[in-house]
Amino acid sequence: MNIAFIGLGNMGGGMCANLVRAGHTVAAFDLNTEAVKAVAAKGARAASSMADALKDAGVVVSMLPAGKHVLGVYFGPDGVSSHAPKGTLLIDCSTIAVTDAREAHAKAEAAGLVMVDAPVSGGTAAAEAGTLTFMAGGTAKAFEQAEAILKGMGKNIFHAGGAGNGQAAKIANNMLLGISMIGTCEAFNLAEKLGLDAETFYKISSVSSGQCWSMTSYCPAPGPVPTSPANRDYKPGFAVAMMLKDLDLAADAARAAGAGIRLGEHAASIYQALSDKGLGGLDFSGVMKDVKGEIPR
Ligand code: NAD
Repeated sequence: MNIAFIGLGNMGGGMCANLVRAGHTVAAFDLNTEAVKAVAAKGARAASSMADALKDAGVVVSMLPAGKHVLGVYFGPDGVSSHAPKGTLLIDCSTIAVTDAREAHAKAEAAGLVMVDAPVSGGTAAAEAGTLTFMAGGTAKAFEQAEAILKGMGKNIFHAGGAGNGQAAKIANNMLLGISMIGTCEAFNLAEKLGLDAETFYKISSVSSGQCWSMTSYCPAPGPVPTSPANRDYKPGFAVAMMLKDLDLAADAARAAGAGIRLGEHAASIYQALSDKGLGGLDFSGVMKDVKGEIPR
């Protein structure tokens, strides 16, 4: 398959290289020429412009910062839609607002293009290893076409339903993650204050009813899970700023849908306070420092 890949940052670079590894012919474009050079060294063709990237491409994959970038790249002046022939499959893997994703679907349909929103779960390590989870929104036919491409970059690929449902699944999942991380930090801190060390509490809770991903895969207390950022002074990983972005998207979507998210909003205020203290670059599990009172309030 001839693929144009747009957005070769922390996530897109590894994903693009995996599409090459999967046997696709990939033309890569990013505003940052260094990022283009890095994937060219891994077998992608360095495209000099959007038009150049789109030459011969039947599929476009994008991994961009936010909704405004996605709408601009696809439908802005000199965007994908002005170069792509009818029927081109567009797969946007960025995390963006459900409303922006639905707007992109509508614009794509009006231009005779086929859109799938396919945000990911998993960070840069999963992007490099090709083990991301994709949650995709679009028609069943579009999903089937996209699945063949997504397989080159991920391990678990889900059809979440129609336009924007991939983004809906993503923000609901990440809101739960943001909340569960704070709860996990509070539980470890409470256990420690009551006389249990982290290893002992982990042994018990990781096989009891408090068990969750924040505990068993990403433990915010140093020790029990050696690969978690807690063991490297909360160097990300998944930064507080990224978590805040997802919680803000969840809050906007919840307001529009009339869904109550009291804990989601409270979690956002806790991460926001960290960010306001200049700690947006800390891993989100670093909220442990706040729970322990190590960050001045
Ligand atoms: P990043 O900032 O590292 O990369 C984004 C890339 O897009 C940059 O290289 C930038 O130059 C490029 N770009 C921006 N505007 C462009 C344009 N008009 N044309 C071409 N290129 C353009 O971001 P990232 O960490 O790779 O994240 C990308 C997306 O993935 C975000 O939506 C993020 O929320 C989501 N995400 C990130 C992670 C993570 O751990 N980093 C995990 C899951 C999801």
